[in-house]
Amino acid sequence: MTIAPPQISPPVAAARSARWRVGLLLAALALGLAALIFFFNPATHQFYPPCQFHRVTGLNCPGCGMTRAIYALLHGHFTAALRDNALLLFLLAILLGRSAWVGVQKRRGRWNGQIIPAKYLWLLLLVALVFSVLRNLPIGNFLSP
Ligand SMILES: [Zn+2]
Repeated sequence: MTIAPPQISPPVAAARSARWRVGLLLAALALGLAALIFFFNPATHQFYPPCQFHRVTGLNCPGCGMTRAIYALLHGHFTAALRDNALLLFLLAILLGRSAWVGVQKRRGRWNGQIIPAKYLWLLLLVALVFSVLRNLPIGNFLSP
């Protein structure tokens, strides 16, 4: 009887496998949260955590209205989602566009490994900051949830 030597996978394959597991876990988490929001309307169910920034200051943060916007989007109410949190729709559009671009670049073998370059993250932070200021001013009242 011969015993086969143990299989040692190269570190690259192990890292790729771990990345897949983390990706699957995050996808399952996102799907679970989407199902929760889909079946339990944030406007009528009180178990969702309230925004602490809004509770303390009375001002709207960039995330205020985001759960209601996700609920509206999941039910196909695009304009209601836009009214609840326009930043969410903007970020989703950026995410979808960037994902498509990364997919095309990977297929062509030209992807540099950066999902979102740092300079664009700073730009997104600036957009969120401007959105926050605008939605709390009388002229940007239409951006408030
Ligand atoms: Zn908030």
